[in-house]
Amino acid sequence: MVCPNCGRVLNRRDIHERTVETMIGEITLRRPYFYCENCKKGFHPLDDALILSDTVKQWDMQEAGASVAAELPYNKAQEIFEELTGLSMSDHAMHDIVGDLCEARAHTTRRGEGER
Ligand SMILES: [Zn+2]
Repeated sequence: MVCPNCGRVLNRRDIHERTVETMIGEITLRRPYFYCENCKKGFHPLDDALILSDTVKQWDMQEAGASVAAELPYNKAQEIFEELTGLSMSDHAMHDIVGDLCEARAHTTRRGEGER
């Protein structure tokens, strides 16, 4: 790959494993890791290609959690979420997700308006 900062050609440095949680369960990915000596920065290009969230819980789980949490208090939302999906999500995680998604949506809306 080419470094997105300085444009140097980078060789694969390593293979890194990462486990993410999705609505279809846990998935362990083995993806190539690149490091730019010039920028002192590491990259996992597959994460971007797959549009992975930086957090363990992926967007589908975040959306599902947020939908439930929008209607119910966090502790109840957590209970229902676990019942329906068999996956765990703490009420703290739910709280964070709702906050993050609201922020992301507000950002998208603002950007969309600017383009018009
Ligand atoms: Zn670079």
